[in-house]
Amino acid sequence: MNAVTKIREEGLNKSKVMNYAHHLTDVSGPRLTASPGFLRAANWAKDELTKMGLVNAQLEPWGDFGKGWEQEKCYVALTAPYYQPLIAMPKAWTGSTPGKKSISGEIVLVKANDTTELLKYVGQLKGKIVMTYSTAQLKPSFEADGQRFADTSLEKMAKAELRQPAQGQGQGRPQGQPGGQQGNMANRFALQRRMTEIINKEKPALVLAMSAQGNDGTLFVSSGGSYAKDAEIAPASVVLSSDDYLRIQRMIEGGTPVTIEAEVKTKFFTDDIKGYNVVAEIPGSDPALKDEVVMLGGHLDSWHAATGATDNAAGCSVMMEAVRILMASGLKPRRTIRIALWGGEEQGLHGSRNYVKNHFTDSIARSKVAGYFNLDNGTGKIRGIYCQSNPNVKDVFTSWLEPFNDLGAKTVTLNNTGGTDHLAFDGLGIPGFQFIQDPIEYDTRTHHTNMDTYDHLIADDLKQASTIIASFVYHTAQRNDKLPKKTATTQRGF
Ligand SMILES: [Zn+2]
Repeated sequence: MNAVTKIREEGLNKSKVMNYAHHLTDVSGPRLTASPGFLRAANWAKDELTKMGLVNAQLEPWGDFGKGWEQEKCYVALTAPYYQPLIAMPKAWTGSTPGKKSISGEIVLVKANDTTELLKYVGQLKGKIVMTYSTAQLKPSFEADGQRFADTSLEKMAKAELRQPAQGQGQGRPQGQPGGQQGNMANRFALQRRMTEIINKEKPALVLAMSAQGNDGTLFVSSGGSYAKDAEIAPASVVLSSDDYLRIQRMIEGGTPVTIEAEVKTKFFTDDIKGYNVVAEIPGSDPALKDEVVMLGGHLDSWHAATGATDNAAGCSVMMEAVRILMASGLKPRRTIRIALWGGEEQGLHGSRNYVKNHFTDSIARSKVAGYFNLDNGTGKIRGIYCQSNPNVKDVFTSWLEPFNDLGAKTVTLNNTGGTDHLAFDGLGIPGFQFIQDPIEYDTRTHHTNMDTYDHLIADDLKQASTIIASFVYHTAQRNDKLPKKTATTQRGF
């Protein structure tokens, strides 16, 4: 049996990818960077990688991160004009409601179109439950949450040509027109920021926030405070479902008094402010090549409103399964293969950026990295790969995808994709790539929401992805040369 056949057999018929996903999501819980959940998942992954037979498995510190945080209790209910519990979730790194018991009170609705109007609330908000006026209107959705790429979209990606940044311009950064739509947006964000500053300074007991994009009980929740080690703790702040938020707002506007009962308790961790990545290796077998390394990874940290299944337990489970497939297939890779499960991605690719800084700033060390493969676009199966503006890898990747064309993976695009950890490698000139994945419900339902749970994962898609990545990593470890880099004219940096 040739190597690809062995890999396919192991990956498609004997997969453990859903078992890994179960442990990283259901069992570990939310994996906010530096939280107890992150460390549960990281330690479990380290042990599991060791059990598979990988060596040097460890939690490697990448530098100082800041405070850990987790929620201990979150209860928010309407108590007048009638009783009803509300869908609510604290924003990360925000504080607790005051006192040992629940708080209760009427809501102050802050309605301000500019900072001058806002200033009339100064001195009115201390110890109060506060919300700001939302102009949002909910509409029924007529489109399915889940999508796969249409063949026409993939064909368009395959035909994309290399785009050179125009001289003297930023790299595709949108040019804001003052007074235009982007100008208005910038003004709204600035007002929003100023509003948060003024409200937080007043020290309210609880701030209610509207889930900006979510519908049907789905909350998009990220951070509301600072994780810096000396930062002041922001007031308790919860995101409510849009439906709950707008109902309360309508009643207040209509003159019906609304009372809320709430108890929000959160906890900060300051004993260890370091950030960690999980790394482990399959040692290379060729004496001439084993000090060169092929890397694969995805970020282990998640937001806290659910268990970060599609963002990004999916990617981590696939990468763990890819190295398991290689071990179980009995293949002996020539170069060393190193898996990395990153921390701190959601706060700015901290884990991967600091890893490459710590390990590959030195040009000799950097020259020993044959390539890096990343997965972080949800549960969708692999439809192809982004060359990250490197035409020199196009033919290589096209041939490596051939044995998987029957599984829907054949598109090789020169296009870049951003937003995740391959950028840390690409920025240093190391060939680093992210795969093209079917979006499924990533942007509509799961990414950074309270619905990012195990049940939104698709087992067959994750098996396909693990198998293809195991094969890509294996080929990178076997070929005589490292993956070709961008030539000087195509290197674009960060
Ligand atoms: Zn992610």
